[in-house]
Amino acid sequence: REVDPVSVEQGVFRSMEALAAVDPAAVKIYETHGMSFAKRVGAWLQRIGSLFLRMLQMVAVPLIVTSLLTGVLGLGSSQGIGRMFRRTIFYYVCTSMLAITTGLLVVNVVRPGLRENQVQHVHTDTTEAESLVNVLFAQLEAMIPKNPFSALAEPNFLSVIAFTIAFALFTISAGGKTAERISSAATAGFNVMMAMTMAIIKLAPLGVFFLIAAVTATQGTSVFKALAWYVVAVAVALAIHATIILPLILKFVAKRSPLDFAKAMSPALLTAFSSASSNGTLPLTMSCVEERAGISNRTGSFVLPLGATINMDGTALYEAVAVLFIAQMHFERNLEFSEQIVVALTALLASVGAAGIPHAGLVMMAIILNAVGLPLEMQGVILAVDRVLDMCRTSVNVWSDSCGCAVVEAFERADTA
Ligand code: ASP
Repeated sequence: REVDPVSVEQGVFRSMEALAAVDPAAVKIYETHGMSFAKRVGAWLQRIGSLFLRMLQMVAVPLIVTSLLTGVLGLGSSQGIGRMFRRTIFYYVCTSMLAITTGLLVVNVVRPGLRENQVQHVHTDTTEAESLVNVLFAQLEAMIPKNPFSALAEPNFLSVIAFTIAFALFTISAGGKTAERISSAATAGFNVMMAMTMAIIKLAPLGVFFLIAAVTATQGTSVFKALAWYVVAVAVALAIHATIILPLILKFVAKRSPLDFAKAMSPALLTAFSSASSNGTLPLTMSCVEERAGISNRTGSFVLPLGATINMDGTALYEAVAVLFIAQMHFERNLEFSEQIVVALTALLASVGAAGIPHAGLVMMAIILNAVGLPLEMQGVILAVDRVLDMCRTSVNVWSDSCGCAVVEAFERADTA
């Protein structure tokens, strides 16, 4: 939880009053050494750890812009396969939304950030409905920047995303040399930004050390209990999506045995788990899908590369749970229904914009925190447990891409039969 100076001061004041009643001399000692020392150390640890967070924030905008540009421009070159394209996108959007819904349901039940403090927000249905329209309309407004450059500088992520997608679509329709040049510049920029992000991510263990030490110095160890519940919430939601929802789709839509399919995909899923990178796993995913699961090269080579960039069920689910957890800690209440809708929609965008590299989801979270008015610094708390969750969500990302191949293949086969 972020330190709220006012409540810390009030807490200290109350304990001082109590202490003064029993031992006035102790108050003197405590005032000169105790609190001020812990506070000072905490503030320095926080300052050092924040350097790492600043670096993550630094790469967010250029990473999102170049990643989205390459993603959307990549779609343009595959327009020839219209029907397969529509089916793939439909599957991707549906499964990502299912994943987000599962995540939201679980985090609303577990409430990892409210376990200590069950403060509830009272509201009535009419204001809820009004505020939903208001909130959604405000999001729509936020998507149209008056000036795309100030949106980049601010940054206003929704405007940046909307403008980048529009820019990419118009680039596709311009075609020819123009599209070629912009596409190669975007790919080059994306490669550099990925390399830069990976270099920063190498500093994660150090960043985690300082930020966690700062939290412990100022707030004690209660934060770990909340973090443990947060890990449970993400893990349970990912497990439901991977072992119930996707297998049901496999069984009833693709008419395949989920167990056999999972066995065929196991090398790719394990690699995704250990590497936490769906881009890195892509070659293996393609060979498993084609050689072990018997899916045609035509489907595999279209659905998978697209999936590795834009279809991230695990990441989408994680974004939703993490932001709700952060909000519960920060506001000491659960988010309203309308705010959760905004989280769901922005989580979808964030997962589309996320690159398939370790911790990309953490960088993208800035988009959602920004949309619901949460301070970006709150990411520091969840950083400590991000690696293990990243491994799990990456496996789910790759699993969903593979199931997508089976679904699209089933439809394609039915058409040609
Ligand atoms: N590491 C994930 C992936 O490569 C992205 C993320 O951080 O959520 O799929």
